[in-house]
Amino acid sequence: MRNKDRFEFPVQPTQQAQPTQPVQPTQPTQPVQQAQPTQQAQNIYTPPTDVVKLPSRGRFYPEGHPLHKVEEVEVYFMTTKEEDILVSTSYNKQGIVFDKLVESLLVKKTIKARTLLPGDKSAILINARKNAYDNEYKFSILCDRCFVENNVIIDLDKIDAKEDNRDGVEFTERGTFVTQLPKSKASVEVKLLTGADEAEIVKGAEQKAKHNLPETVATDRLRHIIVSINNNEDILAIGDFVSRMPIADSRHVTKKYNQVLPDVDFTYEISCEECDQGNKGVVPVLADFFWPNE
Ligand SMILES: [Zn+2]
Repeated sequence: MRNKDRFEFPVQPTQQAQPTQPVQPTQPTQPVQQAQPTQQAQNIYTPPTDVVKLPSRGRFYPEGHPLHKVEEVEVYFMTTKEEDILVSTSYNKQGIVFDKLVESLLVKKTIKARTLLPGDKSAILINARKNAYDNEYKFSILCDRCFVENNVIIDLDKIDAKEDNRDGVEFTERGTFVTQLPKSKASVEVKLLTGADEAEIVKGAEQKAKHNLPETVATDRLRHIIVSINNNEDILAIGDFVSRMPIADSRHVTKKYNQVLPDVDFTYEISCEECDQGNKGVVPVLADFFWPNE
């Protein structure tokens, strides 16, 4: 397995790099001793990288996005630099810790975390956690039936993307999908929301609340994700259609959206140690995801 091979990295990074680093001829004439070590360290230490398979397979990024049709990304392993990001009070306050972490880890710096699909971001974070500590992520849950605490251990190496389901949808070249509505029979084209899109919707809702305007979360969301109706891309026409949409149609759009939405399969299933009851759910990403208490 590729990951296993790459785990060897901490053993001898400096030794590997040394032969390719001939002694600088300028060294004897260089009186400034202080500048030497850092410069040399920079040259010698090439941070190891790993490859993350994107659940989206680059499918839902528009043309011009650095991940358009890109199936995997190269990432660095976590270092003290990333540890600084994780504990940054400023980033934590702004709620951008994971965005900053992801951007720091990505080798290709043109990729902005805000423009990633949530599932792709999760895949990068899970990979970082795995490479920084180990494959095992432990947490505990209370049994649904007897409420006894059960320990769950997840092997992060076995986390895959959820299955691809194209039932009733057609993918387009520009990263959207098209589906036919059951009631109005209209053909709608839908795009997936990035972190930035989600933030915009939340901001809009907050503005409305501030001005005591009625909440329109469902329609706002549909307006954001629908990019055309029967090939008509006019924003006003879409807005008009959305506000008069039969509920069966809007539910269909949401259902297809969730069906298509790429993500990591971060679910678990265990039998209770006490009563044998089957328990399943989504793996909680708690604060200690990046701080395992050993
Ligand atoms: Zn139980």
